[in-house]
Parts: sequence; C-alpha cells; structure tokens
Amino acid sequence: MYVGHFAIGLALQARRPDVPALPIMLGVGVLDILNGLFILAGIDRVTPNLHSGPYLFFDLTFIDWDHSLAMAVLVTLCWGALFMKDRRVMAVALLAAASHWVADWPVHNDDLALYPHAHDHLGLGLWGLLGTTSWALEGVFAAGLVLYAWRANARRGVSSLWPVLVLAGLFVQMSPWFSPMLVVARLAEPAAHLAHGALVAIGFLVPGLLFTWLIRRAEARASLPVAQRGSAAQAR
Ligand SMILES: [Zn+2]
Repeated sequence: MYVGHFAIGLALQARRPDVPALPIMLGVGVLDILNGLFILAGIDRVTPNLHSGPYLFFDLTFIDWDHSLAMAVLVTLCWGALFMKDRRVMAVALLAAASHWVADWPVHNDDLALYPHAHDHLGLGLWGLLGTTSWALEGVFAAGLVLYAWRANARRGVSSLWPVLVLAGLFVQMSPWFSPMLVVARLAEPAAHLAHGALVAIGFLVPGLLFTWLIRRAEARASLPVAQRGSAAQAR
C-alpha cells in the first residue's frame, strides 16, 4: 500500500490535531522507510517482476526484517518509545506506526512472514488477485479517509487543500502507468533492487516530511486572527 498509508495519517492527524504531525506522518511509513534502507543494505531481497503490478513491479522476495508481524510490532514499539516523554503523543505515534502493517495485509501477496525466516506468511494478496483494480480500491479507501480529514479540519477552520493535492499527485504517480518502479524494474541488477530500495525509503520519507510541513502551515494559518491570514499568505 502507498497513498493509503498517508491517508490514514491525514485522518489520524485530523482526529488528533493536538498531537504534532511528524510522529503521525512519518509513523505511518516508518516500516517502509526501514524496508527501503534494508533493501539497500542487502538485508531484504526484492526481485524485479514486470507482471507483478499494480505499481510496485517487484516481488517482495524477503522482507521479514521489517514487514514480518513480529518485526512490525517491534518497530511500532520503538517508534512509540521515541515519543515517550508525552504519553498522548506516544499513544498516537504507536497507532500511526501500527496502522502500516494492518493496511499492508490486504494487498500484500503472501510475503508478510509471522516472524523473520518463518515458514508461514500472511497477506490477502489483492495486488496479485485484482491488479489495477487494487490500485483503484486503494484510491477509494484513501478518498474516504481524506474526506473525513477534510471535514474534521474544516470544522476547526483548518484547510486540507494542500495535503489532499499532494496525496492526489502521489496516487497518480504511484499508478500502474506512471510508477517510477516501471523504469527501475527494467534496470540490470544490482541497480534494479538498489534503486527500488532508495525509492521506497525516499518515497515515504520525503512525502512524510512534506505532509508534516503542510499540516503545520495550515494549522498555524488557522490559528491566526482572520484579518491577518491574507497578509500572512502574502508575506510568504
Ligand atoms: Zn509496507
């Protein structure tokens, strides 16, 4: 799953605007940031497969050190521990990080181990079963969450316009037609898996930070008296 993770983050942030955006918007992707780094380090293995669709075009041959259920729990606990100074923030950070594996489960093709090197693997496999339709379903799922976030934020006078535009852009980019993985999967090894790992890490780190910044900006703008909002926008 890709945009679905960020959509969960946007909904969670809209529900808990009292909590900083960073633990949420990076939390929803922390498992995939690690996944990208572990692929680069050679700990995880991915194999180019142009038929695997719908936008990854790689088989996730061995991703047990971040995407097994046991490691997902461990990473989630570590992420939460980073924010233990404030129990409110820690609880929401834990929820954000835990949502990743739960949201991945329906789409992943039987590549989510119970624990590293376990024989048993999980994943409903909608990516493999439905292909492009699974990408569309992820869009519907994200749209529902974004609608919730938009309404919840609007009630507080906070605009969700820019985060939603970025999410829509990411949805189109990570589509069966425009995914950068289509190009990467055609590279010779080891360039293919190294580029895949780098793109996965960057693909969650950069948008996670961008969403955080956009959310902070929208929250700050909404907290200004109405008369100052136009001039603050001009000053930028
Ligand atoms: Zn994932």
